[in-house]
Amino acid sequence: MNRLKAFIIIIIVLAIVAVRARKTHFECPNCGQSFKVSILRYIFSLHLLFRRYVKCPNCNKRALMLPVRDKKP
Ligand SMILES: [Zn+2]
Repeated sequence: MNRLKAFIIIIIVLAIVAVRARKTHFECPNCGQSFKVSILRYIFSLHLLFRRYVKCPNCNKRALMLPVRDKKP
């Protein structure tokens, strides 16, 4: 029973993270490029103090970046 509860909690957390990954983007502190990462990369990237360690696709620099909420169209 406890194992099932833990499994359900993991699924809920993953769902929240997936939604967050879809609704946020990162802005590179080095070149200013804004970009999105895939949900899987978002989940498995190192994170620290709400920041995620991601690589900029424009200048290939890795940095801790704060996810920025996408503007509504
Ligand atoms: Zn960059």
